[in-house]
Amino acid sequence: MDLADLQTTLRDTYLSRDAERGRDATFRWLTEEVGELAKALRTGDRANLEHEFGDVLAWLLSLANIEGVDLETAIARYADGCPRCGSKPCGCAFP
Ligand SMILES: [Zn+2]
Repeated sequence: MDLADLQTTLRDTYLSRDAERGRDATFRWLTEEVGELAKALRTGDRANLEHEFGDVLAWLLSLANIEGVDLETAIARYADGCPRCGSKPCGCAFP
């Protein structure tokens, strides 16, 4: 499964409901899922951690669908390494 296919699947599955809910409410769901991911990172429950990573990605894809953003295009600048220094691994000074 690649990212573009996944975004299409989520669009086909949820876009009408996502659009009805709207951008701001969908963004709030995404941030709630990020909070659940934070909790999963703390507890160390591997199955739950995987579940929450999936939820965060799904809500991010839903939000991108509402906004008409193609995430594969959006992430493309990272495809060949660090977009700032161009290296793999990144050679940038620690922020
Ligand atoms: Zn870098």
